[in-house]
Amino acid sequence: MKFTAMMTSSKTRKPNLFIRILKEKCPNCGLGEVYEKKKHFWQLPVMNDKCGHCHYYFDREPGYFLGAMYISYGLAVFQGIVTFLVLYAFFPTLPTLNVVLIILAVICVFSLKNYKLSRIIYMHIFPE
Ligand SMILES: [Zn+2]
Repeated sequence: MKFTAMMTSSKTRKPNLFIRILKEKCPNCGLGEVYEKKKHFWQLPVMNDKCGHCHYYFDREPGYFLGAMYISYGLAVFQGIVTFLVLYAFFPTLPTLNVVLIILAVICVFSLKNYKLSRIIYMHIFPE
């Protein structure tokens, strides 16, 4: 009896917050998927209406995710700064125009991931 209770609690326990955000899991239960699985590589992210596990509604009202834009901006700036520091450390003689173009390329490459992460982080900050 005690063993089955331990098994149940370990299965239903929420994963770590950082892992939940990176794996794009539901902010309420930490088990359901927030986004649909990609059918092909070029598909844009499609958010599920509600969690498949706990039926938590992700998109509660029009304009709810407007604030996620600021988080996405912060992520892009962070990635730009990290890219600059890496380039400055390993290629200090690189021309400024090349540095700017590389930073823009990195931000473009991570833009879809930023879009998804910013919405999930926003749902974790403002769950209601
Ligand atoms: Zn859920």
